[in-house]
Amino acid sequence: MTRATALHIDLSVISANVSTLRQRIGAQKFMAVVKADAYGHGAVRVAQHIETDVDALAVAITEEAIALREAGVVAPILVLEGPQSEDELLLMADMALWPTLHHAEQLAWCGQHASLLSAAWLKVDTGMHRLGFSADALPQALSALQATGITDITLMSHLATAEYPEAELTRLQQGVWHEQLTDWPAAASLHNSAAARTQSEGRSDWARIGYALYGGQIKGLTPDETLRPAMRFTTSVLTLRDVKSGESVGYGGRWIAQRDSCIATLPVGYADGYPWAAVDGTPIGIAHQTAPLAGQVSMDMMTVDVTDCAHIELGAPAELWGAHPTVDQAAQHCNTIGYELMTRVTSRVPRCYHA
Ligand SMILES: *Cc1c(COP(=O)(O)O)cnc(C)c1O
Repeated sequence: MTRATALHIDLSVISANVSTLRQRIGAQKFMAVVKADAYGHGAVRVAQHIETDVDALAVAITEEAIALREAGVVAPILVLEGPQSEDELLLMADMALWPTLHHAEQLAWCGQHASLLSAAWLKVDTGMHRLGFSADALPQALSALQATGITDITLMSHLATAEYPEAELTRLQQGVWHEQLTDWPAAASLHNSAAARTQSEGRSDWARIGYALYGGQIKGLTPDETLRPAMRFTTSVLTLRDVKSGESVGYGGRWIAQRDSCIATLPVGYADGYPWAAVDGTPIGIAHQTAPLAGQVSMDMMTVDVTDCAHIELGAPAELWGAHPTVDQAAQHCNTIGYELMTRVTSRVPRCYHA
């Protein structure tokens, strides 16, 4: 390895976050969401590390689940998007995966292969309007599923505004959910990271936790200091230069020095997953201080104003996100969310695991 740029993943931090979140979700079972390569942390490594500490795993698509099975992961795995074809359902049965069922055709496929399926999750659309049976269609869907002979059925729904417990939409979804569950004797699942954090109302026997597992913070709430970020995106200073007041830095000449300044160039850019959209002033950790981004992020490099920093020399360590700034702080300056930053660090960046 030549370039210093790397993504450090601390698996022991994820384990510690699991323990912390266990307490938060009370009696609920813990489903660790490891879709999108465990939010960029490496699904196989994360799943192998935590599978015995959680009750089940969840991924978005069947291919992600197969990769885990092939790596020897034996925990139950829910596939959140469900099968897109009858063949895919068969593949899921073959790999002992739990399908999410959210439209009528999938139920017909289940009818053909029910004996191969050990369990299924039936999704209710309580108001997010992305996946699931509407409240009107649910009774029929449920009896169709029960008629297949599958007995281990969990009802699930997803909140669109879980971070705002008082929001009208949250209240509306909780109301629909409550109504649908009145006579439901078996398991139900509603909570995600934000719902677990806000202690959201609404029955939930399974919490489906993704972002918080990795130390991501819920937007709009004060940071939960008991959760720590498992990902650090780091590099080191490639070169330093002085620019005079009035000179510009980078593509488009966007950043213009208001005083004689010192610029550090870092060997990391948008082709590595640091967002092109980052604005001047985006905080960058450098030599244990914080300095502002100065100039447009380019493909392989970016420039930082280190005029006010002490002891910056070639090779000084830099942190794009991690402890300081956090991925959520970085995202705020890039018109995006930490989820997107975590999941978009590219394959050019070597992954370093710590346990
Ligand atoms: C991704 C996902 C989750 C996890 O959400 P977090 O906000 O990361 O906790 C839970 N449920 C469903 C249906 C999802 O798609």
